[in-house]
Amino acid sequence: MEKEMKPPRQTMMGWLKECLLDWYWRLRKPVFVIVMGGPGAGKGTVASKAAPITGLAHISTGDLLRREVNNRTEIGKYAEALMKNGEFVSDEITLYLLRKELTKFKNRRGAIIDGYPRSEVQAQLLEQLLYDWNIDIPLVVMIEVSEEDLVERLGGRLTCTNKECGATFHVKFNPPKEEGICDVCGSELYRREDDNPETIPNRLEAYKTKTAPLLRFYRLNDKLAVIQSTNETGSEKVLEEFLAAVEKESTN
Ligand code: AMP
Repeated sequence: MEKEMKPPRQTMMGWLKECLLDWYWRLRKPVFVIVMGGPGAGKGTVASKAAPITGLAHISTGDLLRREVNNRTEIGKYAEALMKNGEFVSDEITLYLLRKELTKFKNRRGAIIDGYPRSEVQAQLLEQLLYDWNIDIPLVVMIEVSEEDLVERLGGRLTCTNKECGATFHVKFNPPKEEGICDVCGSELYRREDDNPETIPNRLEAYKTKTAPLLRFYRLNDKLAVIQSTNETGSEKVLEEFLAAVEKESTN
């Protein structure tokens, strides 16, 4: 009778190697976080503050598009008018830019993705992309702000002209120390072209009809953390809750 086939016994060296590899992957587990919220909710602010603390990259599709616009590339020329009107840029272009950024070696440890996905189709595209890399559905952090507060925030937002800095201020809630000058790097501040009274309603409408329904999808997957924010609560509280959610995800 044939002897039963058994796996070879684990050697001491083999066991040690497995333990080391296990720890290596635990330490290297990439963490992807999607930060969602209406326009002006503070996605960029919390992502840029949390990135250096968590060691994750901050990838904003809005910033990637603005870079294309500033560099006068073909993509930039196409996207400019859409962005000015608060309309969505195509799924093909936004996925292309996001994928290019995500595949950079420095971003493979994980990233905070800000401004993507903005629709169900984009959520599926991102899921597929991460699935191909063997990465789970990311953690989604939603910053919930009332529409009234969003309008007030967008209407008074000031952004640094230095693209490397990108700090934002608010004429009322967070004014710069010196009028029109960035506290962080000393460059001039400006009002984003899409932060104007004509465009704001379009952006809110696009958010309500296309992006907000996505939350149902993420809630079902039990991957959603919600942070409540108002114009009275400061951005520090949002950062604190955001970091706690990321910490929980990284140690899971
Ligand atoms: P944000 O900086 O995230 O507010 O984005 C600014 C603008 O860039 C938006 O109003 C859109 O026109 C465009 N945009 C950014 N991300 C996306 C996306 N994922 N899909 C479509 N358009 C986008």
